[in-house]
Amino acid sequence: MKIEKIKKAFADRFQQQPQVFSAPGRINLIGEHTDYNDGFVLPAAIDKSIVFAMRPNSKSLFRFYSMDYDEYLETAEISKNVGGKTWAIYLLGVLDQFQKKGIEIPGVDCVFGGDIPLGAGLSSSAAVECGFAFGLNELFEANISKFEIALMAQKAEHKYAGVMCGIMDQFAVMHGKQNQVIKLDCRSLDYTYFPFDMRDYRLLLVNTGVKHALAASEYNKRRSECEAGVNILQQYDDSVNALRDATIELLTNHKNEFSPTIYKRCVYVVEENIRVQQACDALVAGDFELFGKLMYRSHEGLKDKYEVSCPELDSLVEIARTVDGVLGSRMMGGGFGGCAINLVERNKTTSFRQSVIENYQTPEGEEPQIIEVSIEDGTGKLQ
Ligand code: ADP
Ligand code: MG
Repeated sequence: MKIEKIKKAFADRFQQQPQVFSAPGRINLIGEHTDYNDGFVLPAAIDKSIVFAMRPNSKSLFRFYSMDYDEYLETAEISKNVGGKTWAIYLLGVLDQFQKKGIEIPGVDCVFGGDIPLGAGLSSSAAVECGFAFGLNELFEANISKFEIALMAQKAEHKYAGVMCGIMDQFAVMHGKQNQVIKLDCRSLDYTYFPFDMRDYRLLLVNTGVKHALAASEYNKRRSECEAGVNILQQYDDSVNALRDATIELLTNHKNEFSPTIYKRCVYVVEENIRVQQACDALVAGDFELFGKLMYRSHEGLKDKYEVSCPELDSLVEIARTVDGVLGSRMMGGGFGGCAINLVERNKTTSFRQSVIENYQTPEGEEPQIIEVSIEDGTGKLQ
C-alpha cells in the first residue's frame, strides 16, 4: 500500500513520524477548450493520487525525497535552481507562493509519491502542487481556504513550471468529491456538484502513447482564433466579452463576416458549452445514454470543427464505437495526443479492454495503457 510505503520511507530517512496528506489526479468529463472562453467544464477527482508524508523541521531546510524518481533534494533557499530534479520545481513554486503571502515556512521535510501516470493528462503536476500546499497549510496552521490553495497552486505552475494553465486542474484536485462531478464556471469560478453514479458504469482512459509537437502552437492559435471571433461578434452585440456569451443564432446571423475556419472554431465552443449543461441535466435525470452521446458529439466537434484531435485519438474513439456497452468516448485534454476517456457499462469493461488491445497499437508497437478510474474525494489529510 503506497501510504505505508511512504510513511516508512519518511520514518527511515528522517527518524520521525510524519503527517500524511493525499492529492488526486483529475479527469474532465466534457467541456474541452471552453475554459479560456470563460465557459464551463465538468472535471472530477480520481482514485489515482500522490501521497505526502510531511513534518516541520527546525533546521531551516527544505528536504524533499521523491519516491518515484528516487531522488533527494535539500536546499535552504526558495528558487528555481533544482539541478535537473524537475519534480522539485512544483514544491518550490508552492513555497514561493507561501512566502509571497507572508506565511513563513521555517523548514519542512517531505517524502512523496503515487500512482498518477505522468504527462497522461491527469494533472499529476496539479496534484503535486495541491497536496504539498495543503500539507503546508495544515502543518503551519496557515488557515488558507481550499479555494485559495487552488489559486496558489495554479500560480506556482505558472511561475515555476512555466505552464500557463487555467484553474480547472487545481480546482478539481482540491474540490473533488466522491461520485460527483464539478460543473465549474470558468468566468465566475462558481461551481455546482452533480451526481455521477458509478454503480452501473465505469470510466476507462486509454493513453494514445503520443504527444504531437503541434499541441502548444495549435493551442495558442485556437486562443487567438476565438479572440478573433469575439472581436467580430462584439461589433453586433457588445455584451459578448467571450465566446461563452455568444449564441448559435448570433453566429449564424453573421456567418458571412467570418472566415470559414474562425466560424467553425466559434460554433464548436458555443456548442460545447451547451453540451456541458445538457450533460449535467442528463446526470440529474440519471440518463447515462444521453451523457455518452454528448461525449461522442464533443469528440466530433473537437475533431471536425475545432481540429485539435489526431489520428490516434480518432482511432481510439472509432474502436470504442464498435464495442457493445460503450456509451461514450472522446479525447480528453488539449488534444494532439494524451488520453481518450470512455464511459463503459460495468460488465463490458473486459471486452472493451480486449478490443482496444487488439485494434490499437501505440506508435512504439506496445500495448496501450488502459487506466480505469473512479471518482473520489479531492485533496485531504489521511487518517
Ligand atoms: P501532467 O499532465 O501529468 O500534469 P505535467 O507535465 O504537467 O503532466 O507534469 C508532470 C511532472 O510533474 C513530472 O514530470 C514531474 O516533474 C511532476 N510529477 C508528477 N507526478 C510526480 C510524482 N509522483 N513524483 C514526482 N514528481 C511528479
Ligand atoms: Mg500538468
